[in-house]
Formats: sequence, C-alpha cells, structure tokens
Amino acid sequence: MLERLSTLYELQLIDNQLDELEELRGDLPAAVNELKSQIQTLEEQIETKEDEKKKSLSKRKQNDDDVDRMKANLKKFKSQLYQVRNNKEYDALTKEIDHSEEQITKLEAESSALEDLIQKLKNEIKEIEPQLDNYSKELKEKESELKQIIKANEREEARLNDKRDKIKNKVKKPDYNTYMRIRKASGGKAVVTIIRAACSGCHNVVPPQRQIEIRSNKRLFSCESCGRILVSPDIAEEAKKKMQF
Ligand SMILES: [Zn+2]
Repeated sequence: MLERLSTLYELQLIDNQLDELEELRGDLPAAVNELKSQIQTLEEQIETKEDEKKKSLSKRKQNDDDVDRMKANLKKFKSQLYQVRNNKEYDALTKEIDHSEEQITKLEAESSALEDLIQKLKNEIKEIEPQLDNYSKELKEKESELKQIIKANEREEARLNDKRDKIKNKVKKPDYNTYMRIRKASGGKAVVTIIRAACSGCHNVVPPQRQIEIRSNKRLFSCESCGRILVSPDIAEEAKKKMQF
C-alpha cells in the first residue's frame, strides 16, 4: 500500500513539473489555434467569392457571345425586310426582329448586372486579402515564439516524460484512471497531502480522526471536500526524496 500511495504522489510530482512547462507556453497555443481558424474562415470566404466571380465571368462571356450572334442575325433580318414579297413574310420577319431586340436588351441588362456583381466581388476580395495577410503574419510570429519555448524545454520535457512513463508503468490501471479523472476535473492536482491539518488541494480542514487514518497509509483516502486523493505527509516527503525535488 505504501508503494501504491507513494507512486501516485510521484506521478503527481512529475505532472506538476510538466504542467509548469506547459504553463510557460501561456496563451500561445490557444492564440495559434484561434488565428488558424480565423485564417481558414477568410480563405473560405475568398474561395467562395472567387468561385462566384468565375461563374459570373463565364456567364457574362456567354451572354456577350449570344448578343454578338443575335446582332448578326438582326442585321440579316433587317436586310431581308427589303426583299419580302408579301405581308405574311413581313410580319414574320418583324416578329423575329422584335424578338431578337428584346433578347439583346435582356441579355445586355443581365451582363451589366453581372459586371456590377463581378466588381463587387473583386472589391470584397480586395478587402479580405490584407486582413488575411495580417493574420498570416501574426500566426507566423506566434508559431515561431511557441516553437522557441518548446525547443528551450525540449530536453527537460523529454526527460520528464521518460520518467513519467516509468512511474505510470508502476501504477495500477484503475488507480491511473482514477488519477487522470480527478486530475482533469481538479485543475491538474489529483493527489494532495495534508498541510497544517488541511487538504493541500482545497484547504479545507481534514477531521482529526480522518488524519490519523490517512497517516496510517492503509488505504486510498479521498478529501471529503474536493474529492482529491489524500496521502499522508510521510508519503509525500518520501516521494519527493525519491524524485529528488
Ligand atoms: Zn480537498
């Protein structure tokens, strides 16, 4: 049991060190993620607008071709007007001419609206691009800053992780799972000790009878207030010595 309690405390000590290294990174990892997601959003916006622009350009090109074709037809119809032989032919031809002129007007109006849309999209893209540039520059800076911090502690972190693996192997799986669950729920500290008659995790007083039980190191005790695993000061001291902290 002594070994079981001590090993859990050792695991906590190692994790405290790793947490400290993590804290050195500050809000950089969160800032990097935030920037990445903002950049992605802007890139998607540009992509959507570019896509719409491309489609509008191709539609306008098609309209222009249609207008050219219709204008050529119109010219032909108009010249044919001088060669009509009867009213029926004349009526049919003027009908064609009216229809073509209507179509041309419609297509030209559509092209003009498309041109406006294309300009609007171009402007919107132009507005997004500098923003995207700024975010990308900022991301680069923050990433390099983070990289430096990580690099500076790389060896220490590897050493601690190596040590952590060894200790983890000595912890029974259910104990490890309990430890990780409490650690996650309690801001990193899952195993604490008694300092001045109080739980060093939540600073609530541990009843004297409880303290005696905990000091006997006979089983795993939890703090009644915060749920953290409580080990005796002896165990904590021994673990610290073992870890040379
Ligand atoms: Zn507590």
